[in-house]
Amino acid sequence: MIETKNPADGTLLKTYEEHTAKELKVILGKADEVFTSWKSTEIAERTELLQNAANILGERKQDFSELMTKEMGKPISQSIAEIEKCIWACEFYAVNAEDFLADELIDTYAEESFISYDPLGCILGIMPWNFPFWQVIRFAAPTLTAGNTILLKHAANVTGCAFALQQLFEEAGYPKGCFQTIVAGHDDIEKLIANDSLKAVTLTGSEKAGKAVAAIAAKHLKKSVLELGGNNACVIWEDADLKNYIEVMVNARMQNNGQSCIAAKRFIVVDAIYDEFLKQFERAVSKLQKGDAMQKEAYITVLATSDIADTVEKQVNDSIAMGARVHFGNTRDHTYFEPTILTEVVAGMPVFDQEVFGPVAAVIRAKDRDDAIALATNSRFGLGTMLFTEDIAAARKTIGSIPDGSFFINDMVKSDPRLPFGGTKASGYGRELSQEGIMEFVNKKTVYIK
Ligand code: NAP
Repeated sequence: MIETKNPADGTLLKTYEEHTAKELKVILGKADEVFTSWKSTEIAERTELLQNAANILGERKQDFSELMTKEMGKPISQSIAEIEKCIWACEFYAVNAEDFLADELIDTYAEESFISYDPLGCILGIMPWNFPFWQVIRFAAPTLTAGNTILLKHAANVTGCAFALQQLFEEAGYPKGCFQTIVAGHDDIEKLIANDSLKAVTLTGSEKAGKAVAAIAAKHLKKSVLELGGNNACVIWEDADLKNYIEVMVNARMQNNGQSCIAAKRFIVVDAIYDEFLKQFERAVSKLQKGDAMQKEAYITVLATSDIADTVEKQVNDSIAMGARVHFGNTRDHTYFEPTILTEVVAGMPVFDQEVFGPVAAVIRAKDRDDAIALATNSRFGLGTMLFTEDIAAARKTIGSIPDGSFFINDMVKSDPRLPFGGTKASGYGRELSQEGIMEFVNKKTVYIK
């Protein structure tokens, strides 16, 4: 049995029974059955349904936002922003999917040759709790519109959101079985992936979960996409415009209480601007509004579970034991973790080497521009890097040195439906969003007519 609880006060929200092995088989069978008709629908029909889903998200924005905030504790204003982003992604694919999926003519010796983009069948999405609607929508909108069906295995603590998402697609008019939520434990995943009716799997979550699920997928020769953790560097060169960008930098670390894969986790600051950066950063962090997650003004609330706070606390304490200094914050009360700034951070400390999933900024001093880039790329992860500088010409020259899935100059790393999103190294493989995202779960079929 799964219990969802409000992380702010521990109150029980709801209990859910896990699906039995027999029920999971029936659910997968249903997904397979509906696929035979769903794949033959016109793309225009599918995009119309997606637009319906966008409309329902708009109408029920407040309800969905409150559900997310209750289940995982994020500030209500950020939940509302998340639903608005979901609407954007749905509308983006509603407008563009037909073009993305059109046959692509290729001139060859044939009378006619082209690539046709056919759906694969039922795709399993294993999703995390940190953006309970967004992570699902950014996978589901393109994947369903390409003609696939979906099973969603969401993180246990946001099971209410998982069922709300199924209901959303059903209310939008998708045939029953196109999008089904399953309540399943880790042990059930292998049986699902092994089943012939399940064609591929995508997982957004930790490196550990990614490795486990990718190994199962490989064993059964099924495609996998992995969107895993990150340890993004925010590089600040000596000519950075702090006045204009300090709040962006703070938001890059602290939004969603620091529980974001693409958050700026390591601030790598060139010596010449280090003191000024620290002064302005601390001032901006100290102004962040703490409060009850349901209050409109609250920006810092609680972490999603006390286990997460335990892990953050240990990473911070272990780093302090290795020489890091607390410059600001570092108090903890159950699921609340105060925004914290650590200085004197060097490679080898947990806050440099590991992903810290909480509101902790690790500040690292760099000798010069090149040293800063070298420190930034010293990571097992490869989700994204930020660079703040007024010297755009020099910044452009560093593009080739950044081995990540994204490189943002004078802005925080963020996802945008029009741009591909994904990582390299321990941050995973494959891409979501844009045309790249809709191409992950299609058969790119060569057609040759002599
Ligand atoms: P997690 O513990 O890895 O869980 C993610 C999902 O995987 C959950 O549904 C979880 O189910 C499931 N799962 C975990 N181990 C599994 C296994 N062995 N077999 C099958 N399923 C398994 O991650 P999280 O704590 O929810 O999320 C935080 C992590 O996600 C961070 O590392 C963050 O950086 C990453 N993330 C990455 C992106 C990206 O786009 N790259 C975006 C958001 C988050 P249960 O809840 O039932 O355990």
